Amino acid sequence: MTRPIVLEGRNIIRDYQLTPGMLKKAKVVHAVKGINLSIERGKTLAIVGESGCGKSTLARIITLIDPATSGELFIDGQRIDIAKRKLTPELRCKVQIVFQNPYGSLNPRQKIGDVLAEPLRLNTDISASQRRDRAMAMLKKVGLQEIHFNRYPHMFSGGQRQRIAIARALMLNPSLLVLDEPVSALDLSVQAQVLNLLADLQDEFQLTYVFISHDLSVVKHIADDVMVMYHGEAVEHGPREQVFADPKHSYTKMLIAATPRATLDSIRIRIAHKKQVKRPSLAPL
Ligand code: ADP
Ligand code: MG
Repeated sequence: MTRPIVLEGRNIIRDYQLTPGMLKKAKVVHAVKGINLSIERGKTLAIVGESGCGKSTLARIITLIDPATSGELFIDGQRIDIAKRKLTPELRCKVQIVFQNPYGSLNPRQKIGDVLAEPLRLNTDISASQRRDRAMAMLKKVGLQEIHFNRYPHMFSGGQRQRIAIARALMLNPSLLVLDEPVSALDLSVQAQVLNLLADLQDEFQLTYVFISHDLSVVKHIADDVMVMYHGEAVEHGPREQVFADPKHSYTKMLIAATPRATLDSIRIRIAHKKQVKRPSLAPL
């Protein structure tokens, strides 16, 4: 069975023009240099690479926050003018992003129930009581409880706040969720819990993920495909078992060699097991 392609990007390029200083000439940073990608519904593409290699720039283009310099983007088969970004409200709902530090995007004076209901208030005309019901249901889906509904962001731990950010991103039933270093600020055991939650939600809602990380050991559990970025280019791109077992590029080999063994592996993670059950051909990693 072939699945529909949720996200396709062709030759995405992003240059930043730096404004000239007193003695400096204008300079161009080639942050993203011709990225191609394609993700089927319900799958996860992991994008890995060191800081500054262009991951967040690409994430902002895919989520239509920032324009690209050139290239083509298709979401659910619909071509999007990424250089101009004329967005319909429908398109805005289809793609959501979760950042590394959700605290920055949570209003400290807004109760969590209102945080979750807000996307519905802004983008739909359903009643306040329906918004409340849906917000409450989503709160429970991400592993929080009714008592959390009226609490403020500072009353939660880092892992719980990331659950809230994920819940908020899911309120409008997006097709695609871009997760930009979603667990990088969390302790290892909490990382595992959030990764498990993401895997459960993906199964339940057939969500498609772009999962960005600088850490290969995180990606090893959650990815279907892996793209390794280096200085704005994709130096490696393929099914995760192939990338881990037979990396082609010396940079990928170095990343794999540099991944400490006793990281997330030592913590119970359901994802790898679930994916192995689904796809018996998967070699152990
Ligand atoms: P990553 O997320 O992989 O750490 P980024 O996408 O944030 O990388 O950055 C890629 C490159 O683009 C870096 O060299 C960074 O300094 C540059 N860059 C990112 N945003 C801007 C911007 N708004 N203006 C100028 N340069 C930028
Ligand atoms: Mg980044």
